[in-house]
Amino acid sequence: MAKIPPHIIDDIMSTARIEEVIGEFVNLKRAGSNLKGLSPFTDERTPSFVVSPAKQIFKCFSSGKGGSVVTFLMEKEHFSYPEALRWLADKYGIQVPDEEPATPEEQAKISERESLHIINDFARDHFVETLHNTDEGKNIGLSYFIERGFRPEIIEKFQLGYCVSKGKSFTEHAIEKGYKLEYLEKVGLTKTKEDRHFDFFRGRVMFPIHSVSGRVLGFGGRTLMADKKIAKYFNSPESIIYNKSQILYGLYFAKSDIIKYDNCYLCEGYTDVISLSQAGIENVVSSSGTALTKEQIRLIKRYTKNITILYDGDAAGIKASFRGIDLILEEGMNVKVVLFPDGEDPDSFAKKSSTSELEEYIRDHAQDFISFKADVLLGEGSEDPIVRAGLIREIIESVALIPDQIMRNVYLKTISERFEMNEDILQSELQKLRRDHMAREMNAPEIREIPIATQGSPEQATTSDKKPDNEIDHSEHDLMRILIEYGSVEMSFEEQNSAGEPENVTTTVAEFILHDLNTDELVFQTPVFQRIHGIISDAISENTFLKPSYFLKSEDQDIVRFVSDIAIKNHELSQNWLTKYGIYTNSERDKIKQATISSLFIFKVRRVEKEIEELQNKLREKGNDLDDEALRDILSQQVLLENVKKVIAEKLGRIVLR
Ligand code: ATP
Ligand code: MN
Repeated sequence: MAKIPPHIIDDIMSTARIEEVIGEFVNLKRAGSNLKGLSPFTDERTPSFVVSPAKQIFKCFSSGKGGSVVTFLMEKEHFSYPEALRWLADKYGIQVPDEEPATPEEQAKISERESLHIINDFARDHFVETLHNTDEGKNIGLSYFIERGFRPEIIEKFQLGYCVSKGKSFTEHAIEKGYKLEYLEKVGLTKTKEDRHFDFFRGRVMFPIHSVSGRVLGFGGRTLMADKKIAKYFNSPESIIYNKSQILYGLYFAKSDIIKYDNCYLCEGYTDVISLSQAGIENVVSSSGTALTKEQIRLIKRYTKNITILYDGDAAGIKASFRGIDLILEEGMNVKVVLFPDGEDPDSFAKKSSTSELEEYIRDHAQDFISFKADVLLGEGSEDPIVRAGLIREIIESVALIPDQIMRNVYLKTISERFEMNEDILQSELQKLRRDHMAREMNAPEIREIPIATQGSPEQATTSDKKPDNEIDHSEHDLMRILIEYGSVEMSFEEQNSAGEPENVTTTVAEFILHDLNTDELVFQTPVFQRIHGIISDAISENTFLKPSYFLKSEDQDIVRFVSDIAIKNHELSQNWLTKYGIYTNSERDKIKQATISSLFIFKVRRVEKEIEELQNKLREKGNDLDDEALRDILSQQVLLENVKKVIAEKLGRIVLR
């Protein structure tokens, strides 16, 4: 895609609120002037993910990731830089001028998606209209919903509708309105048999299925005929906008309550979601019509780490919940299960109970997966040692899927207590299962997609964001920090003029540092710092001073990460509110000047030390092979460097001590 003009990028970056955007993915709670939540990048249990609304940056202390709102979207949604900007522009209603796309295919794909969305929105409106304003809609569709116990507000909220039974009434209407048959077929609203078109959902009540942002991706349609030969539910076919394994029915309406209650109820169907929502339990979604998938669980994981499965207590419901439990545990999430009495689903149960009875039932019957599996599998045979052994193994198999070691051990303890089993024996069984599991995964093609989280710190995953691991990095880091945070601050010092008299010279911190590095022909060694150095030099030569926030807009995410990292670390100097507003008192200025000069000197001292170290290495490795002259040469270089170091260190000492 073509480039987005810089003034639009500015517009987007100044309008977007990082806390709002991240709040869509992470449950954030206030912590002082920051917001805190669980990292969406790791499986941590104590929140170390920090968002600063004031600075418009985030930092994830468990993965090391950090940066601007754009960085977040690039990391979390795997967007490219322009994709992240466009997503934000869309969210905040900022117009991005339409440019020529890179390829015609790309353009075609974008406009096809858009067309399919528009058709679905049109169809939704049409079906809603039909339900409320036609005789057939009212007499058949609406009366069915009312009879089911759905109240008008809930019918409206979920945008329920009706598709008339006459063969192609909707298709004709859509074509009349100018929608293309090709697209109607692609979203599955129209079927064609031997050149004859008809409405796929004819004679059905309609449940629109929404994306997380509320667009209609597809439909579920329930027949009102009692005929057993007709499928009770039809669903939209897969298309470029409808991928059933990645959609959860109800999530659009549920997400804010999922965050609020830090829990998501998961049930099986459209009617369960609607009935529970009507009963006031709104943090509920369903995986309508498909077995639960990993992608669906990850959708929930954006908002909470806790899932409560609400299934029918029949054999099929239990089997489905077993599969669900394992998938949820594998994602590092917590799972509880509530089974409804045999023959009841959440929908039917909600219908015949009051809200408080429903809440009470859920509260009293929510079980952790260990006791749930134990209750189900043990049944009558609880005394039979063979049944018991099988059960314990079955439970440990689930525990073995949990990525976090501490969590696994907590569960093992629970099992050991509940079944009065020696923990070591359980532990060795668990280890064996995990080894088998990993061996299997090694052969599986998915291995690249899902790295196995083994014990140890989650930090091992990141490579690009290592802490400075040697002194050089550290001194470069510090100097660069000062260059960015205080580059535009003025500092004055005495210099001898051409007549040899002292004269007061005023310059900016950035000019001072760059001039000094230039004189000594020193450059940064860390690549990202070299790039920043280049940007600042260019700016200075045009007499422009760059504020830290300038760098947060960069496309170069290494730069964004570095700048936001230093901003979040709250260095002592920058904590002063005066510096925040660019007002410096004399003593503050002195401090900045002192910090600038000392970090410049430390930078140089480290360089010299590094060179000395290299000479010493040379001596150690080749010492025996060198002739006298070469040896003397090295030694005298070393003496020279030691002297330079001494001079710098003395100057540094004076400045620091002054
Ligand atoms: P009934 O009034 O007979 O109970 P229902 O509409 O409540 O019918 P159920 O058979 O109870 O449907 O199924 C409960 C939920 O499971 C439905 O709301 C629906 O979302 C989902 N479901 C059932 N069958 C299908 C199917 N074939 N495809 C997709 N979803 C289905
Ligand atoms: Mn039902």
